[in-house]
Amino acid sequence: MGEFDLIARYFTRPCRDAALGVGDDCALLGALPAGMQWAISTDMLVSDRHFWADVEPQALGHKALAVNLSDLAAMGARPRAFTLAMALPEINEPWLAGFAQGIWALADEHGCELIGGDTTRGPLNICITVFGEVPTLQALRRDAAQANDDVWVSGTLGDAAWALSLMQSSQPLPADARNRLERPTPRIELGLRLRGLAHACMDLSDGLGGDLKHLLQASGVGAAIELSQLPTSPSLQILPAELRQNLALSGGDDYELLFTAAPTNRDAVQALVAELGLPLTRIGTITRKPGLVFLDHGTPVPAEFGGYDHFSI
Ligand code: ADP
Ligand code: MG
Repeated sequence: MGEFDLIARYFTRPCRDAALGVGDDCALLGALPAGMQWAISTDMLVSDRHFWADVEPQALGHKALAVNLSDLAAMGARPRAFTLAMALPEINEPWLAGFAQGIWALADEHGCELIGGDTTRGPLNICITVFGEVPTLQALRRDAAQANDDVWVSGTLGDAAWALSLMQSSQPLPADARNRLERPTPRIELGLRLRGLAHACMDLSDGLGGDLKHLLQASGVGAAIELSQLPTSPSLQILPAELRQNLALSGGDDYELLFTAAPTNRDAVQALVAELGLPLTRIGTITRKPGLVFLDHGTPVPAEFGGYDHFSI
């Protein structure tokens, strides 16, 4: 099997939405409806850095698209299309079939179609670009937090980092922990519902402690975060408090949404919990004074939590 058979067999389907999909030199997208604008994002997954080469191919396909869709969710954008660029060390058909299955399943769930890409031989590396649509000027940006806003976070924090540490120390890994690491759920529906409700929003890929600083900096504000309010799943409740907090603040790969909203929208945000079946937890307040302060039951505590930085070590 050659490169073009591979593309035809695993990554080509009739186009539903785009004017022209896989097969030509470019894909062609139709015009957006009036009053909408494109939201575009790229994320690359590199073997041995973002995943291990022996990870289940379905899970890898899922995650490669999920981390990209998470960026659309963070902007309040609706997924429309994506491109897939991949370097493969060899053509391994069972692997490709599994990988493609993981990608198509999540793409179908969100009505997001594959419109093109690139395929080459090389060390395993997956790069996806997603295209979403959002009403003009309604995207949820990082620079829109306002003093006195509530700070909210979706789901639970630290599960993926906990799963990773179990794997690295060869301990048994419960299925739900593995799923949190290998099959993150992009919070698309939440992002859409937060339009007009939230001020600033971002997705958590590198740990709340570091990611929140980016949002604060972009908005020119500070925040006070109550450590006792950080939402963690039952499997983390049995850990010592300090380790649990560390996982929740420094652990990457959660792909939950962090957002700020006016206190007047508290009930409206709370109403989304039942509607979406997703916990949303108020963890602190945006302050006019820049800087990030951590509180333990109201008392400021010294804490420094950096996010993950590929070039910091
Ligand atoms: P070109 O030589 O013009 O760059 P390619 O030969 O790389 O085009 O790709 C042929 C067609 O297949 C193009 O339409 C491209 O978008 C698509 N394509 C290549 N790799 C993939 C992939 N992994 N998934 C989806 N489409 C792909
Ligand atoms: Mg070409």
